[in-house]
Amino acid sequence: MNDYPINIRAIQHYMYCPRRFGLLEVNDDWAENAFVVSANLMHTHVHDGSHSFNSADGTISRSSLAVYNDSLDIFGITDCVEFVKCKGGVEIEGFEGRYRVKIIEYKPKPPKDGTFHKSDAMQVYAQKICADSMWHCQSEGYIYYTETKRRIKLPFETEGEAYYKELLGYLEKMRGIISRGNIPPRVKGQKCSGCSLSDYCFAKTGRYSVKAEIMAMKGG
Ligand code: SF4
Repeated sequence: MNDYPINIRAIQHYMYCPRRFGLLEVNDDWAENAFVVSANLMHTHVHDGSHSFNSADGTISRSSLAVYNDSLDIFGITDCVEFVKCKGGVEIEGFEGRYRVKIIEYKPKPPKDGTFHKSDAMQVYAQKICADSMWHCQSEGYIYYTETKRRIKLPFETEGEAYYKELLGYLEKMRGIISRGNIPPRVKGQKCSGCSLSDYCFAKTGRYSVKAEIMAMKGG
């Protein structure tokens, strides 16, 4: 455990743009645009409880499960976790039998090449790290695209080590930003057209502070 627990969804903000992460985490800025609203609506539906069920083949699906990993000090809410009956699987407290664990993240549509965005995969990987430590398993990660109704398996079995190293790097940099309390500068070439924080980003660089305003008026 350390002083800065990280919400898994913040990893995506950092990967999209470190400045965006800084504005959200250091400045507490938040703004919604069409992309954010549509993603929120989809996740509201996913997390409304209607997706929790037990199927005839013994698979147990649970939406909105909270996951955490104490050693990395990260936490998050999964869209869906499937516990699939499997003799070689692990025991899960509260369920009878043994299970493979699958983490499924819902996204609106795939990138043009039909596979997945690295930041989406990293989000699922961080959830997997949590699931693995909670249930002592080697969980699998998937992205389900609602537009195409297709589920893509993520390459954690073959590329897990590289994902882990990358995740550690992000967490270190993110914690550095939070601990120093600074907002990273805009990076040249950053794609800003889909960013809901552009008004905040271009309009100001520091948090508005009544105390600072009064001190400035007093010349302090
Ligand atoms: S407007 Fe651009 S530079 Fe600013 S936070 Fe958003 S993506 Fe980053």
